[in-house]
Amino acid sequence: MNREWEILQIPGPTPIPPSVERAMVQPMIGHRGQKCKELVEDIAPRLKPIFGTTGDVLVLSSSGTSALEAAVVNTTSPGDEVIVVVAGAFGDRFAKICNTYELDVHRIDVEGGRAVEVAAIEEQLQAHPNVKAVFITHCETSTGVMHPVEEIAEKVHDASDALVIVDGVSSIGGAPVDMDGSGIDLLVSGSQKAMMLPAGLAFVAVSDQAWKVINDNPRPRFYLDLRSYKKSLDNGQTPFTPALSLLFGLQEVLSLIEDEGLENVHERHRVMKEMTRAAFRALNVPLFVSEEDASTTVTSVRPQTFEAEQFRKIANQEFGLMTAGGQQNLKGEIFRIGHMGYSRPANVLQYISIIEIVLKRLGHDFEQGVGTAAAQEAYLQATRELD
Ligand SMILES: *Cc1c(COP(=O)(O)O)cnc(C)c1O
Repeated sequence: MNREWEILQIPGPTPIPPSVERAMVQPMIGHRGQKCKELVEDIAPRLKPIFGTTGDVLVLSSSGTSALEAAVVNTTSPGDEVIVVVAGAFGDRFAKICNTYELDVHRIDVEGGRAVEVAAIEEQLQAHPNVKAVFITHCETSTGVMHPVEEIAEKVHDASDALVIVDGVSSIGGAPVDMDGSGIDLLVSGSQKAMMLPAGLAFVAVSDQAWKVINDNPRPRFYLDLRSYKKSLDNGQTPFTPALSLLFGLQEVLSLIEDEGLENVHERHRVMKEMTRAAFRALNVPLFVSEEDASTTVTSVRPQTFEAEQFRKIANQEFGLMTAGGQQNLKGEIFRIGHMGYSRPANVLQYISIIEIVLKRLGHDFEQGVGTAAAQEAYLQATRELD
C-alpha cells in the first residue's frame, strides 16, 4: 500500500480530487449503449473552452504521448519537412516521434531553462519554405519553461502555410491557450497533469485547416487515425472501447472547473507560481527559469549550496513530500515542483514550510520563515489585485 499521507507535488501524475475518485467508481456501462452516448455527448462540448476552441476535441484512451504521435501520423507523410522546437525532454520526444515516422526534421535546439526566440522559428521557416508543420511544447515540463505558443502560431501563419502543432500535456487545464484566436492547428493534452485524472486519456483538439490536411493525408494509421474518432464523435461514440471510468472522472473534472470558473482556475495556477517563486527568491535558492519564461504549472529550482537529490530524499523521507528531479542532462542539477490541477495556494504554503525545514537540515543559510512569509505576501498581493 502507498503511504496515503504522501504529498504529491510532481509535475504529473498529480493528486485526484476526492469527488473525481468517487465518480470513477461508478458501475460499468456498455460502450455502445445510450448511457455512454450521453456521457460522450456531455463531455465533448465542455472540453472545448479548456482548449480555447469551438472545434472538435477528440478523446483517446491512451497516455499523452499517443496524442503527440497521433498529431504526427495524421498530419505528415514520409519525407515531409517539419520544424521541431527542442528545449528539453518533451520537445526531444516530439522530434524522436517525427524521426521515427521518417520526416525531414529541422530541430531548433534551445538552451535548457530558456523559451525559444520567435525569430529563430521565423529564420528556420525562411530557410525551409516547404515546411509542413511546426511542433512545439507549450509547457516544457522537464525545465519549467512556457513557450509563447500563441505568438508563435500567429507568426508561423503570417510567414507560411505550415500547421502549428502544440503539446499542451502539462499546461491544458492550468494555463489559458487561445487556440482559435491564435491559429493553433492541433493542441494535444493528457489526463494526468492539470486535468486532475489518472493517466489514460489523451486529448487532441483539431482546427479546420488541420482537418483538411488530415483528411488528405495518405499515410496509413489505425488506432491513432483521428478520422475514426471524428466520425464516431459525430455519433456520440468512440471508435474503440473508451476508458469509461476515466470518462466518469472527466465529467466530474469538468464540473469542478466550471464551478470554479475557467479563468479562476488559470488565475489560481498563476498565483501558485508567484507564491512558489517568491519563496525561493526569499530563501536565496536560485530559480532555473526567468520570470518571463516561467511556467504556471511547474517550477524548477537549481540549488547551489546543496545537492538537489539530497533535498528530494530528505523532503520525502521526513515529510512524504514528493518533488521531481531533473531529466537527461539536468539530472542532479535541478529539482521540480508541480503545482497544477488539484493543487491550491494552501498546498503551496504547506510545501514551502516543509522546504524551509529541509533547507535547515541541509545547512542552507537563511532566516527561518522568510520563504513562508514571501509566499504569504505573494498570495496577499495577488488577491489584492483581484479586489
Ligand atoms: C507528461 C508529458 C508528456 C507525456 O505524457 P505521457 O502521458 O507520459 O505519455 C508529453 N508532453 C509533456 C509536455 C508532458 O508533460
